Amino acid sequence: VGLAMLAGLGACGGSRSGDNGSGSEAVGKGATIGVSMPTKSEERWNKDGNNLKSKLEKAGYKVVLSFADDKPAQQNADIENMVNKGAKIVVVASKDGTAVGPAVEKAKDAGAKVIAYDRLIMNTKAVDYYATFQLERTGVLEAQWLIDQLGLESGAKGPFNVELFTGSPDDNNAKYFFKGAWDLLQPYFKSGVLVSPSQHGGGVNKDFKLSDWQKISVQSWKTEQAQKDMESILDSTYAHGEKLDAVLSPYDGISQGVINAIQSKRPDMQPNSPNWPKITGQDAMEISVANISKGLQGQTVFKDVNKLADAVYDMIIELAEGKKVSGLNGKFNNNTIEVPSKLLDPKGITKENLTDLVKANYLTQDRFDQLT
Ligand code: BGC
Repeated sequence: VGLAMLAGLGACGGSRSGDNGSGSEAVGKGATIGVSMPTKSEERWNKDGNNLKSKLEKAGYKVVLSFADDKPAQQNADIENMVNKGAKIVVVASKDGTAVGPAVEKAKDAGAKVIAYDRLIMNTKAVDYYATFQLERTGVLEAQWLIDQLGLESGAKGPFNVELFTGSPDDNNAKYFFKGAWDLLQPYFKSGVLVSPSQHGGGVNKDFKLSDWQKISVQSWKTEQAQKDMESILDSTYAHGEKLDAVLSPYDGISQGVINAIQSKRPDMQPNSPNWPKITGQDAMEISVANISKGLQGQTVFKDVNKLADAVYDMIIELAEGKKVSGLNGKFNNNTIEVPSKLLDPKGITKENLTDLVKANYLTQDRFDQLT
């Protein structure tokens, strides 16, 4: 894998729709659609799955929706079950982008179209389309916020103590998020303005490479794992009042683990005071909306899952009506083929623009008021 995969990302005029050997015959209005989500235990996938289901049902489609409890074997069984129930399109947000291959291959063999939802399905021809948010952009938004907060572009010399985390090693997205961030942060590690004193994952230093990203990953994006890792970081290198300036976290659940660890190990660090670290995140989870308003977390990346559901809904309707899939604006190489893709824009959120989540109808005003 590695960087070769990134080379495939670029503009695409949408000329590849209806290919991958599946012909262009219509799926049929009112067909059965399978929607396979990785887990219920992370907030966003519940929204993703239910949004898509309700949109499709309103338009007269039958939907089989499942959540795989973070278990690849469960997800493969879910997909087989959808195919047995006659699904003509399966939409898959994979738990493990590689392990799901055999299941989508069976779906293709049975004549279904396959759409990779948010996470790419790897190492197989059996994926027709992909819809996601600009992946590297998430990491860029996180790292740029840290750079601004630490004043690096105005010449702050540091050295600043920064700890880095990446997402789940079985999720293709995690590497792209880190790539976006690392491209911006690496020069500061090279010059010694940023340092990562812990030996977390074997140690991030000026020679750390993008391809090392799995050394600092958090299996299945779990809060508990992130908390444990952060606790050992704090025990090993920050046990005597050392300053922790920032934490690059790629996901709100990981940020929460980091915050829990700091609160248990370093009661001297207080939110909204100069010794509280700058902490990033992703997903605009409810807990993070609350944390941002309390000053515990500084930033998150908002991915409007309503818009992603809309984008995939449009694909499904076009496929069902035998039309060409429109709005494709990129392609991703999954190590086997170039998958025609729809890429949406994520947005950085801080305390200053937190109410944008209400404006986007992501949270109701009431819920927002309860959280903040
Ligand atoms: C998604 C992120 C999410 C993470 C953890 C990634 O694949 O793109 O939005 O934060 O998984 O669920």
